[in-house]
Amino acid sequence: MLRVKNLTTGYDGVPVVFDVSLEINEAEFVAIVGSNGAGKTTILRTISGLLKPISGEIEFEGKQIHKLTAHEIVRLGIAHVPEGRHVFGKMSVRDNLLMGAYTLNDRAKVNRLLNEVFELFPRLKERENQKAETLSGGEQQMLAIGRALMAEPKLVLVDEMSLGLMPMMVDKVLETLKQINKEKGVTILLVEQKVQEALEMADRGYVLQTGRIVAHGTGKELLESDLVKKAYLGM
Ligand code: ATP
Repeated sequence: MLRVKNLTTGYDGVPVVFDVSLEINEAEFVAIVGSNGAGKTTILRTISGLLKPISGEIEFEGKQIHKLTAHEIVRLGIAHVPEGRHVFGKMSVRDNLLMGAYTLNDRAKVNRLLNEVFELFPRLKERENQKAETLSGGEQQMLAIGRALMAEPKLVLVDEMSLGLMPMMVDKVLETLKQINKEKGVTILLVEQKVQEALEMADRGYVLQTGRIVAHGTGKELLESDLVKKAYLGM
């Protein structure tokens, strides 16, 4: 579904991600794991069109997308849940969700999607009319994911959802992502510093160190690898 080929990308022509290749199949749950500053966010921003590659290619459903604008990429079915969540604090939970559906003009469909999000996240339904800024960190993360789902994406890019959340909340949000993946068939690409939690949930993973992929495999294979055990699990 998504193919990243020999991608080098960074800021103002200065690369921070070097020659990265990865593939994600339809309906897979894939994690890119690595430490703070490894370049995970930079890869996601490049996929969603917020940054342009220095070299390399990105294909989505057989079509090159790395020269398209971020808006065009959203319309193809790629939604990005950014790090730090970025919900609209002064707007209600419901209006935040409706913002996610801005590409759709079918009212009935928007209502159906809204109900689906409320089924996944009953907490958001309970707080439907509250301002988003009054939600807890975990609830805001749910809202950011819910907003992405309102665009009916085929692929959701989730950036560091664990930041600032309590461990229990991290597990809960990860489990909901898994449910979205398995029950709705939405493909998920997650980037995470919480290496163990992410690899336990993912079908496959890639390990990124200082901008380069140093290992890949199933979540289980990576968790059992010496590299991951030593570098990330303190074993
Ligand atoms: P984090 O968990 O902190 O998001 P990350 O793995 O996602 O880490 P990136 O945010 O992609 O890492 O950062 C990779 C490198 O790019 C870092 O060295 C960082 O300092 C640099 N970088 C990030 N954003 C910018 C920017 N806007 N301009 C210049 N350099 C940046």
